[in-house]
Amino acid sequence: MTTTTTDENVLNNLIGGTWKPATSGQTEVVPNPATGETLARVPISNREDLDAAVKAAKEAFQSWSRTSVPKRARILFKYQQLLVDHWDELAKLITQENGKSYKEAYGEVQRGIECVEFAAGAPTLMMGKQLPDIATNIESGMYRYPVGIVGGITPFNFPMMVPCWMFPLAVACGNTFVLKPSERTPILANRLAELFQEAGLPDGVLNVVHGAHDVVNGLLEHPDVKAISFVGSQPVAEYVYRTGAAHGKRVQALAGAKNHTIVMPDADLDAAVQQIIGAAFGSAGERCMACSVVVAVGEIGDRLLDKLIRAADEIEIGNGLDENVFLGPVIRDSHKERTIKYIETGEKEGALLVRDGRRDAATSERGYFVGPTIFDNVTPEMKIWQDEIFAPVLSYVRVDSLEEAIELANKSDFANGACLFTKDGHNVRTFRETIDAGMLGINLGVPAPMAFFPFSGWKNSFYGDLHANGPDGVEFYTRKKMVTARW
Ligand code: NAD
Repeated sequence: MTTTTTDENVLNNLIGGTWKPATSGQTEVVPNPATGETLARVPISNREDLDAAVKAAKEAFQSWSRTSVPKRARILFKYQQLLVDHWDELAKLITQENGKSYKEAYGEVQRGIECVEFAAGAPTLMMGKQLPDIATNIESGMYRYPVGIVGGITPFNFPMMVPCWMFPLAVACGNTFVLKPSERTPILANRLAELFQEAGLPDGVLNVVHGAHDVVNGLLEHPDVKAISFVGSQPVAEYVYRTGAAHGKRVQALAGAKNHTIVMPDADLDAAVQQIIGAAFGSAGERCMACSVVVAVGEIGDRLLDKLIRAADEIEIGNGLDENVFLGPVIRDSHKERTIKYIETGEKEGALLVRDGRRDAATSERGYFVGPTIFDNVTPEMKIWQDEIFAPVLSYVRVDSLEEAIELANKSDFANGACLFTKDGHNVRTFRETIDAGMLGINLGVPAPMAFFPFSGWKNSFYGDLHANGPDGVEFYTRKKMVTARW
């Protein structure tokens, strides 16, 4: 990286097409969570930096919103090609700053690229509708227009995929964008923006302002920002939704999760175990679609648990760039400490710790490692069942029927995703019709978000109306005009 950081390895902001140091002077270290080594420093920008980015986005909106849609789409096609060309580099950057395994990072890049591919369909996606005869000699038509300046606020766990849910589609629809990436994984955001510049994106269409609360509050309160896309933890999502709405903005805020996976006695247990291990411990459990509770139905309780423990024992822990490593570090030392506190809480609450990830050898290394941890006999009264731990900690619950399993899952305040393992179509129907969750998986561990379908949870896992991605994304990033004409 040359232009996107200062000589002191502090990340620059991108404002109006120019990479600039933040004016605040305040910075934080961005460590590699697998080694503790400093990768860069991230500026904690202030309102002045944010205001400059909004000003640049406002200027760019004048011409970008009037640029023909196929011309905008052509830049996205070029961007897609550049992302494909840099796939390996992007995946390595993700592993370095986030810690997840290279294989998972590689998959994340694919999810991001798919968002760009979807956005490149803007000429079709933005089409309106007409009815030639709403009354005698009167016609009516609906036309779509961009909303204006959109602010995007993203979490640490998907440094590429989540920003790509937002800015490619927003920009393809003719909006200009100010991205506030997670201050814990800010490096990839600069590379994504740099490649978009290289694809021919005009100055000011995408701006990047690094930082924390001040930048977020600046976006939420700025009168020129018309819409906010947020992804992150539940309390912040709720705050962003309320504050953004109070300032007259449209807001979509995707929040935290506590996803239940129900395993029926008729399921292929070995296949289920493989999927659950991936969903619970892959990306160190730092996925909004992570499986954090397994609900075993009927007589399989002991057998399934035994298989899960044995599979967890086989997991290779270490630096995600090393081949065969499956479980990387959690994001920060403080997150490791928080996870260990949750493990202690689980023990105090009376859950049975059947696999203790604090004892794995890697946990004594310099990186922020926690091994796969499993609690049996978990109940809804326990904090470890209620809270999103966001780490490789799995709760195990036993019930007698599918109905009981669904009732338990539906007690959670969260409702992002839920999975069912079964061979029985009737079970699938009962599950689909009665579970509270926005993303369902049948015989798979992670019902991953796809660019061309809407994505979000229910209840406290989502604040807003229009979900991310797919047709909902187009709806969110456009506003409509109805024209009724008599000729
Ligand atoms: P986070 O809420 O700590 O941070 C998200 C963003 O909000 C960051 O850019 C951060 O700078 C900003 N922020 C944090 N605290 C703030 C505050 N008090 N005021 C204003 N801004 C603030 O989330 P995280 O730890 O980076 O990400 C993990 C969380 O994101 C988990 O809860 C996970 O479930 C959730 N997540 C949800 C989805 C989804 O689709 N529902 C996807 C990915 C992650």
